[in-house]
Amino acid sequence: MTNHLFALVRENLSADPAARPFIETPDGRRYSYADLLARSAAYANALVAAGVSPGDRVAAQVEKSPETVFLYLGAVRAGAVFLPLNTAYTATEVAYFFADAAPAVFVCDPERRDALASVAEAARVGRVLTLDAAGRGSMAEAADAQAPDFADVARGPEDLAAILYTSGTTGRSKGAMLSHDNLASNARTLVEAWRFTDRDVLIHALPVFHTHGLFVAINTVLASGGSMLFLRRLDAGLILELMPRATSLMGVPTFYTRLLKEPGLTAQATRHIRLFTSGSAPLLAETHAAWQARTHHAILERYGMTETSMSTSNPYDGARVAGTVGLPLPGVALRVVDPDTGAERGPDEVGMIEVKGPNVFRGYWRMPEKTAAEFRPDGFFVTGDLGKVDARGYVHIVGRGKDLIITGGFNVYPKEVEAEIDAMPGIVESAVIGLPHADFGEGVTAVVVAAADAPDEAMVLAHLEGRLARFKCPKRVLFAAALPRNAMGKVQKNLLREAHAALYRG
Ligand code: AMP
Repeated sequence: MTNHLFALVRENLSADPAARPFIETPDGRRYSYADLLARSAAYANALVAAGVSPGDRVAAQVEKSPETVFLYLGAVRAGAVFLPLNTAYTATEVAYFFADAAPAVFVCDPERRDALASVAEAARVGRVLTLDAAGRGSMAEAADAQAPDFADVARGPEDLAAILYTSGTTGRSKGAMLSHDNLASNARTLVEAWRFTDRDVLIHALPVFHTHGLFVAINTVLASGGSMLFLRRLDAGLILELMPRATSLMGVPTFYTRLLKEPGLTAQATRHIRLFTSGSAPLLAETHAAWQARTHHAILERYGMTETSMSTSNPYDGARVAGTVGLPLPGVALRVVDPDTGAERGPDEVGMIEVKGPNVFRGYWRMPEKTAAEFRPDGFFVTGDLGKVDARGYVHIVGRGKDLIITGGFNVYPKEVEAEIDAMPGIVESAVIGLPHADFGEGVTAVVVAAADAPDEAMVLAHLEGRLARFKCPKRVLFAAALPRNAMGKVQKNLLREAHAALYRG
């Protein structure tokens, strides 16, 4: 048996991997496919030496660098389960992931080592190693001391390759278990659907702790033998500068709204790019239109989630319809049903989106009840997204069943923020909503009911800092005498969203 996911990389190695670029960074670091093989082997050896056995979790909360990719692939080759964590997570949040996933090894930024080592020790994490944005640290040193070859640990299609945490609606994060074949099959599908080849050069400016940057982007490039220009973060000016050397860009809608603010964005500047994709949050039809007018490119919007990888995509050839997420990808079955009865809805009727296919995850880590609750008896996964399928078969996402906020491509579950605010003395209750925001898509906003000598906006924000990852913290805190409620006592967030819709405008 081979290592099912890494076999995908091996399949696409050219005769001369040293001659084929894999990653280049703006500060001039270059790695070929031969480097990828050698470095990922050294990381696999170092992880084994640190005590990692097949099936063990390798958690990483590290800044983005090419070494992060080698760590990911090293973990896969060692038969381990890669567990990337958002760099914004606080020590309290990281402690939860340790307790839940019990990783054998934790890799973090050297600057955070002191703060996190005791957390790791308390959770009995076997080893703590470090890796910084320049690719230096005790993890890299351990790899440097190892041989650059490694016999890949055999892993079958059903074995776990990664766990990615998704914020829970109840505030508790759930670990989505992704198998080798979930990732390998989706990468193959995307190579075909988006026509990736070894001539492609992808501008990669997404974070690598999330499914979009880690799997959709990197695995698709690996499965085609192409290369990446690897940016630390979204930098519209730099992206524009690199476009003449690249063939594709994968982004969240914020990428496109930021790029549209660059005077240099023209049809000429984007001439060398063959594909712009967008996902993780809805791309406004007006952004799609503005992009097309300026660049003559139609952004290809697609839809997926941590649990399912990519499920739908607008076509490469054929109409890319603004405001839709396209058609189910080959091998993916998608239906829209009545959320209560499960009865299938007709064309243009809104309901719950459910999907089934080789892309759909293996369930939530150590949460069999939660897993069972989100699958239908016939194997369809209940996404939590509301949508419809039109007469041409295009899928439209019309909302989210669970009031999820998506800000700059990151998910924020209101409940988690509300719980922190409500715990403050002087706060009666709160409702956290997303409001239209030109840059972030949605801006996290808290509406708070407070007692007489209550904290003010600045105090609430100061209280949340350090307790919650920065992207989850509200941009504004508004005060109200009471929250609007329906007859069942449920807070009517839709009314709050309507009342404050213009907060971030102008
Ligand atoms: P995540 O698990 O972080 O990737 O978030 C997945 C969620 O993002 C989905 O369940 C959708 O609610 C949302 N999402 C992803 N892509 C799109 C899209 N193209 N349009 C609208 N919502 C999207």
